[in-house]
Amino acid sequence: MNTLQENHNELFKFLDTSTSPYHAVKNVREHLLEVNFTQLDEQAPWELSTGGYFIERDGSIAAWYFKESEEATNGLAIVSAHTDSPNLRLKPILKGHQVGLSQFGVEVYGGALLNSWLDRDLGISGRLITLSPNGDIKENLVQINEPLAKIPQLAIHLNRSVNENGLILNPQQHLRPIWNDTSSDTTDLIDFISAESGIDRQSIQSWDLMLHDLQKASYVGADRQWVASARIDNLTSCYASLSSFIKSVSDGRSKRVPILCLFNHEEVGSTSAAGAAGNLLPLLIQRIFKGKDYSEAMANSILVSADGAHATHPNYLEKHDLDHEIRMNAGIAIKRNSNERYATTAIGQATAQRICESNNIPYQLFNNRSDLACGSTIGPISSANLGISTIDLGIPQLSMHSTRELCGISDVAYLEDFLFNFLGS
Ligand code: ZN
Repeated sequence: MNTLQENHNELFKFLDTSTSPYHAVKNVREHLLEVNFTQLDEQAPWELSTGGYFIERDGSIAAWYFKESEEATNGLAIVSAHTDSPNLRLKPILKGHQVGLSQFGVEVYGGALLNSWLDRDLGISGRLITLSPNGDIKENLVQINEPLAKIPQLAIHLNRSVNENGLILNPQQHLRPIWNDTSSDTTDLIDFISAESGIDRQSIQSWDLMLHDLQKASYVGADRQWVASARIDNLTSCYASLSSFIKSVSDGRSKRVPILCLFNHEEVGSTSAAGAAGNLLPLLIQRIFKGKDYSEAMANSILVSADGAHATHPNYLEKHDLDHEIRMNAGIAIKRNSNERYATTAIGQATAQRICESNNIPYQLFNNRSDLACGSTIGPISSANLGISTIDLGIPQLSMHSTRELCGISDVAYLEDFLFNFLGS
């Protein structure tokens, strides 16, 4: 069953191929099916016995495992992360051209660092929705891993003060990718995607498509101690959550019901049917308990929200609280914030520290500068939605929300180790 752990190739493959939340879910699904989990349909009745199950909803996936049918009374141990990353998403109409170049419009999804999308070789992935002759609406995953699109930067000769005044990018005007000559036979992007993916153009109704940087994940540093990749936030946490969940199920130590919940839409606030603020997890829990009173079990439950943390940037020390210096490869960052931007309470912190200390897992304590607004995660949202104790923690990283982020390779293993021991605690 140990299909993932201690294997960087698997991590790199997961990072490279999960170019959209739908592809992240596909990858997770394949790993769960490999270890004999059963996919359930939310629209159908469920007959649950012992074993592993999972459901999917619009780029989110939740899995759980019953050792014995009555164990749910001991509570739930939930590991959660998010499948989405900030990026550029294609609009519903994709016909544009200027000065002989085919273009299309994009929307900015989440808090993307826009400059990081310039001059990159970009592919396209996501889902095409098709209508079959019998009226069925179907989701078809597509992934074009060819350098198709480019957002060319303006030459410095035409913007002489850019290095002094900073780069200002208007998302409507300056981020329109070019992808073909208008003199070419193919000027409709969906015609092109249809031909590339082998999906009948006439059946395509709509899409959720997005750009991705084609550069693959790689080691960086004199000792190859860091990983540079797209979507480190938050696919490294998805990977570590999945890996530790599968290992925990195989190990069978868990006293509580282990649940893996990877949500879409965190980067845009989680308020959606698939997001952490929706009813995916509350409804799942209701169905697990089959109409029984589960208030005691909920009081015994605990959730870990694993998400990227800011490592202290050596060139911007003034942006950090140096009492809470965070280093890559120095352990998972337990996140605290008095204004509930992170859900970890003092008790949650102590619980996480106990797991770390009894298993020799290094950890650090993150707290934002008091004069800067703090980011957030699905932790406070899930905590409020479920009313259960929640711990926010994650892997320290630099360049958060860039197309190319950076984290320490050892921290991924520390997070896996932590989550495995959390699930078994
Ligand atoms: Zn994140």
